[in-house]
Amino acid sequence: MLKMNVSVLPARFSSELLNWWLEHKRDLPWKKSTDPYKVWVSEIILQQTRVEQGKKYFDRFLTVFPTIDILASAPEELLLKTWEGLGYYNRARNMHFTAKYLVEQNQGAFPTTIQELSQLKGIGPYTAAAIASFSFGLPHPVIDGNVLRLISRVLGITSDIQQPATVKEIQQFLEKAIEFAVPEDFNQALMDFGSLQCTPGRPNCQVCVLSEYCRAFQEEKTTEIPVKKKKQPLVKRYFHFLDIECEDGHTLIQQRTSGEIWPRLFQLPLIETAQEYILRKEDFDGLMFSITGQTTPALSTYPLIAKSSQVLSHQKIYGNFYKLKVNKLNIIKNTDLYLVEREKVSKFAFPKLVSEYIRSNAYSNGLSMAESGE
Ligand code: SF4
Repeated sequence: MLKMNVSVLPARFSSELLNWWLEHKRDLPWKKSTDPYKVWVSEIILQQTRVEQGKKYFDRFLTVFPTIDILASAPEELLLKTWEGLGYYNRARNMHFTAKYLVEQNQGAFPTTIQELSQLKGIGPYTAAAIASFSFGLPHPVIDGNVLRLISRVLGITSDIQQPATVKEIQQFLEKAIEFAVPEDFNQALMDFGSLQCTPGRPNCQVCVLSEYCRAFQEEKTTEIPVKKKKQPLVKRYFHFLDIECEDGHTLIQQRTSGEIWPRLFQLPLIETAQEYILRKEDFDGLMFSITGQTTPALSTYPLIAKSSQVLSHQKIYGNFYKLKVNKLNIIKNTDLYLVEREKVSKFAFPKLVSEYIRSNAYSNGLSMAESGE
């Protein structure tokens, strides 16, 4: 490989990045508008999911909440239901708060400086820079994981990219480079280059407009850069969900409390165990009494019908789902339990793990995943 020691000039980087982008830019639905509301919605959704999935959620969100006024006046349950599947529901709640704030305080208009944008709840430096550049043409570079990876490789940065000093070094380089381009094009080019060309596992260095001076490529360090401190291992949690099927077509759901994962979302009644475990008949008997007050719950079956898991930022949740058939269902003790018709259960907002189960044949027909081929 040809090795060169060429310093990275912001102007050259900017020009070559833009030339690449003119040929490779992605056609994304949210790029058709500079409306700050749509930019905001798209950027928050893209923090939760990949671009291809994001298109579907973006369309759905804007169909239900086409304007900031409609979002501000919507009930939280509708917002959470629309957000279902994206996870990290606090992002949706923060959007709701900010929409209400802007409608009440600023006739629904977004502020036009990055400083004011950054003060809005749920809008961090990345989203503020995206709105400032895409909607108002201001020269503020967007910096997310893709951009940190790309620039740390180009500059050959070997310090931890999660450290503020490293981010600042990258930001200073980008603030110089963005001066040589139209800000919104520069930011979109950065995003597209990081996603399509300088990918995490297999950057396409053999056909790269930056390879002549990219330090990671020149020094054969593309697998070592970016440098990231190892994450703490995930905490494992074992959740057992009870799918209680009453003869009269009802079931029980439970609302989660605040201060825990999935605050105020709904779930099927839950028991958590410290270890991996399969619930037994005696576990169900005590549990059903505590929920319904029935001394002899008329259970015809209580099998483990489905298993699933979901990774959150610091936890891995293992979910076991049990089908319990009963002939009578009254709630006497727990105020966080709701008796609802099974057919209408999908109107409530559930964590992804539970909503996937509710959409499965295991919930509707009582077929285990193996039987239904899921
Ligand atoms: S040469 Fe490779 S590592 Fe460097 S910017 Fe291009 S794709 Fe990324």
